Amino acid sequence: MSHDHHDHHHHHDNELDPFAARVKALETILAEKGLIDPAAVDAIVETYETRVGPRNGARVVAKAWTDADFADWLQRDATSAIASLGFTGRQGEHMQAVFNTEDTHNLIVCTLCSCYPWTVLGVPPVWYKAPPYRSQAVINPRGVLAEFGLVLAEETRIRVWDSTAELRYMVVPMRPVDTEGLSEDELARLVTRDSMIGTGLPLRPGSLGPGALWPAVPDAGATS
Ligand code: FE
Repeated sequence: MSHDHHDHHHHHDNELDPFAARVKALETILAEKGLIDPAAVDAIVETYETRVGPRNGARVVAKAWTDADFADWLQRDATSAIASLGFTGRQGEHMQAVFNTEDTHNLIVCTLCSCYPWTVLGVPPVWYKAPPYRSQAVINPRGVLAEFGLVLAEETRIRVWDSTAELRYMVVPMRPVDTEGLSEDELARLVTRDSMIGTGLPLRPGSLGPGALWPAVPDAGATS
């Protein structure tokens, strides 16, 4: 298993696997027949990529911010701590939570393919699977973070964690300042997907508008 980075089958970059090719063909036919609106499909996929999945991870982080015992458990045995919230993997992969500190910022990548902590973050963003991110995250992590608009102090150490099929990482960002009065739910709304990959930081409490961050999942039936 040491060389097996994949959940199931191997596919090369820039090449659709048979399942993806079939989905693409179906989507094209349905769109041509006017049965689906590709923009609506994109919107739904985007929702699952950026909102539905990462909400699980955001709950894990918010609990760690508010419950020292849970944070300790998460640090020692992330697989069990995360499972206690109902988020479990299908294939027995192990989770490790890496905690940002004042001195150290963590960044996750899969250099070989696209291994990702999907039980807490859902499906990976396109850039996570792209060769530039996979190579540059290791070679020039500081430059990669700058491209995401995240400029860290020179003295901050960046640790890069290379995921595999057996061991996947999530970043626990530092709790933002001025959040003492927030509930766990409110804190969870500050935790972005990218802050749990390490390419971003949590939002500041002042940026929370009503319903601005985690809007409800759009009703698929209402999009046509
Ligand atoms: Fe991988």
